[in-house]
Amino acid sequence: MISNCDVIVIGGGHAGCEAAAASARAGARTILVTHRAGTIGTMSCNPAIGGLGKGHLVREIDALDGLMGRAADAAGIQFRMLNRRKGPAVQGPRAQSDRALYRTAMQSLLGGKAGLTVVEGEAADILIGGGRVKGLVLSDGREIHCASVVITTGTFLRGMVHIGERSWPAGRVDEKPSLALAETLDRLGLRLARLKTGTPPRLDGRTIDWASLDMQPGDDPAEPFSAMTDRITTPQIECGITRTTDATHEIIGRNLARSAIHVGNISGRGPRYCPSIEDKVVRFADRESHQIFLEPEGLGDDTVYPNGISTSLPAEVQAAFVRTIPGLEKVEILRPGYAIEYDHVDPRELDATLELRRLPGLFLAGQINGTTGYEEAGAQGLVAGVNAARRAGGGEGITVSRSDAYLGVMIDDLVTKGVSEPYRMFTSRAEYRLALRVDNADERLTGLGEELGVVGPERSNRFRKKSESLRRFRALLRGCSVTPSEARRRGLPINQDGIRRSAFELLAYPEIEWSAVAAIWPELGEADSATQKHLTTDARYAVYLERQEEDVAALRRDEAIGIPSDFSYADLSGLSNEVRERLELVRPASLAQAGRVEGVTPAALTLILAHLKRAARDRRAA
Ligand code: FAD
Repeated sequence: MISNCDVIVIGGGHAGCEAAAASARAGARTILVTHRAGTIGTMSCNPAIGGLGKGHLVREIDALDGLMGRAADAAGIQFRMLNRRKGPAVQGPRAQSDRALYRTAMQSLLGGKAGLTVVEGEAADILIGGGRVKGLVLSDGREIHCASVVITTGTFLRGMVHIGERSWPAGRVDEKPSLALAETLDRLGLRLARLKTGTPPRLDGRTIDWASLDMQPGDDPAEPFSAMTDRITTPQIECGITRTTDATHEIIGRNLARSAIHVGNISGRGPRYCPSIEDKVVRFADRESHQIFLEPEGLGDDTVYPNGISTSLPAEVQAAFVRTIPGLEKVEILRPGYAIEYDHVDPRELDATLELRRLPGLFLAGQINGTTGYEEAGAQGLVAGVNAARRAGGGEGITVSRSDAYLGVMIDDLVTKGVSEPYRMFTSRAEYRLALRVDNADERLTGLGEELGVVGPERSNRFRKKSESLRRFRALLRGCSVTPSEARRRGLPINQDGIRRSAFELLAYPEIEWSAVAAIWPELGEADSATQKHLTTDARYAVYLERQEEDVAALRRDEAIGIPSDFSYADLSGLSNEVRERLELVRPASLAQAGRVEGVTPAALTLILAHLKRAARDRRAA
């Protein structure tokens, strides 16, 4: 047993895997402490990675050389690009996963990491000395000393599972909750609150009438998540589609009083965007039916995940209502659905490096911060892992701007606004989403990852080649131009306004494809299909991005105006008590962040700015 390291990560879920791997990549001697090594990389709920907004996070994790994209590529059994008919900025890659393959892939990616050791055990207490983290105590009394700790305990903190009228303490079904660590967090004086989430029953695929169902295939060819994956080699499957019926709704309606959620056994708030079937029947009473995707959980596994009917009704009611669904008339339930309620920490306790403001060296990531979803957890884990390693090495933490990445948007939302329900990523949360596409995550982040030392040489090589190709063809596109009449002679539908247009500007027209400009300038034909697609999208968005540039520049200006962590808001006359309290709670790190705190007006920002300038003048004079 190692008794000393730089960084300890608690929890081998999605946040913990990325945190531990990122910390090790950053050069820190890292220990991952988790209940059981065999559950590392477990998908607690739906066997799928990605989706709208979430797919962006996976590509960003990948751009920083994280693991999730590679594991999802190895385990993916149905890949689909969601929103394909909408613009590239809001498309979302999603892959249904083979649950066992995903776990195996994650464990083998972690297994090969230099500087990373896995220790089985229950983290119980944090050692503190001199006002900062010194190590960890396990429930069996073992102690490990370190400089930083990252807690990623998911739904385990005082977890309670509910099925109908029954409830019992558990972190996930059949796994014990984390009680001692919750008490430790209480003792630190952190603001904790309850949240809840749920999962559907698992069905025996051999008892489903597949022949009667509509089937949905994946994309062919499947598009990988990771820049490190050349092509998907795992066999692909189809999913079934069915719907609830009047009879389903009638049974659920009749038994609402027996649902843990509706009977009031659960106090925590649930995910509004991922409601239980009970919630759907009550909230959307006018809907005749709700769609259900029947997703096989693996290639050699008969378990089927019915996506869309998470529930905490009693097991016998679940059995009755699923059999009213077409194709499921004779279905057998392998494991009932359940709801889980757990503690989370108010993320406004953190700064944007994900370090707790009141205890240097202690970082939190994942569901513990009030988010839901593997991707949200993984992205936070990566940032917390890098920062924990930097903190251990005496370096400054890094933060990512809202204008550079979805993960920057998410972390800023969490630490600035807190959560009142489980936080999930959506493209609509990103104000600069035209610039934050799934296909340019590496352009936005891999360079930063290289500076931080967390990107391996193989990815750097691939990135350099891709960047060179983009640079070469971008320059070519901008360097050659035609007059409108020349364009017309070539059959291109351009306004006859006398203005010369570059090949890049021609590509901005939706009806002009790469092949049409390559017909005029044959050198462009040498670009590979990924480069063509990427630059065509850049061209189509260019005019909107130019309009956004001013806003991004203003944001960066305000981000550069730092507010010290001990800034005295009490000294600012003119701030209402309510606004002062909110600012004291969040302690924004910059004027930009202060502007996003609820209730902070432009007048309040002017007051803060004036105070900062006065303080700077006084310092210069002293
Ligand atoms: P987890 O993946 O939960 O990992 C936590 C890890 O910490 C585990 O390995 C555990 O063993 C370990 N651990 C905990 N305490 C200790 C300790 N004291 N010492 C050592 N190790 C410890 N997400 C959605 O997006 N949509 C959904 O519909 C959805 N439904 C869900 C339903 C259920 C029943 C559950 C349990 C989760 C659901 N989720 C859903 C959430 C999703 O599973 C999580 O968001 C994601 O797994 C969070 O990742 P994490 O890394 O924060 O935590």
